[in-house]
Amino acid sequence: MTSTDLTTTGRDSVVIPSPASPYQGDIARYWDHEARPVNLRLGDVDGLYHHHYGIGEVDHAALGDAGDSEREKKLIAELHRLESAQTNVLLDHLGEIGRDHTLVDAGCGRGGSMVMAHQRFGCKVEGVTLSTKQAEFGNRRAEELGLSDSVRSRVCNMLNMPFETGQAQGSWNNESSMYVDLDDLMAEHSRILAPGGRYVTITGCWNPRYGQPSKWVSQINAHFECNIHSRREYLKAMADHRLVPQAVIDLTPDTLPYWELRATSSLVTGIEEAFINSYKDGSFQYVLIAADRV
Ligand code: SAH
Repeated sequence: MTSTDLTTTGRDSVVIPSPASPYQGDIARYWDHEARPVNLRLGDVDGLYHHHYGIGEVDHAALGDAGDSEREKKLIAELHRLESAQTNVLLDHLGEIGRDHTLVDAGCGRGGSMVMAHQRFGCKVEGVTLSTKQAEFGNRRAEELGLSDSVRSRVCNMLNMPFETGQAQGSWNNESSMYVDLDDLMAEHSRILAPGGRYVTITGCWNPRYGQPSKWVSQINAHFECNIHSRREYLKAMADHRLVPQAVIDLTPDTLPYWELRATSSLVTGIEEAFINSYKDGSFQYVLIAADRV
């Protein structure tokens, strides 16, 4: 990379390489302009901003009844609780992490998972995103929480991360692996992970048992400008890059209540039907895969 490829935003930690491809430029723009209430209002609940979905049983008692004037507020808090529960399940699979370890969040969004990881393990958490706005947002939140020394977001391509070989004890993709080639992605995680470290992904994937991507999966791809991979492709790319699955968990039944609740809220984005139908017809799955770097 030459110096003409770089621009800075005033913070040393946010150095912006030009996107590696026109597609990455599109994705950077998408997330720079993303300000859907469904993401921001949920994050406002407790200052942890997520761009992923939720899992677990809905607490109907916490929602109040249909006529409750606070119903919408309670519903937002409940969706947010389920999204944080999702992060907790991801963190549960990182294995033994000590304060001196480094974790890497590949495709870190506004940084909610990074803050939760630091709060749990007390270690450094490094995040990368294509979006300058997201990196700035995440760094601002870390500063407000007094965590700037430990939690840092950078603008860069996760296929070429600014980390040493073997630097990370754990790394993850939380709903961010559908934007890249899986072979390239697993090669890069394998490079930055220490042998004995752990990689975790939570992702939607199409189900090889269904045959090919269903029309719902195609709709989700068009909505998010992404390319959902199959379960088979994940396992193959991991196997090819010294990442040996330690757990493969089908979270589809655990995420359906979240989607059914979300579809009843004022925050609908129009894509809810595609998720619910494809989860139900078996063409699409929500999975967690944790793999040992051997
Ligand atoms: N993991 C976060 C955000 C998920 S949204 C969360 O759980 O909240 C998808 C994220 O992937 C966005 O932050 C987007 O910038 C990032 N992303 C997509 N392609 C990327 C790439 N090639 N390199 C780095 N980040 C990427």
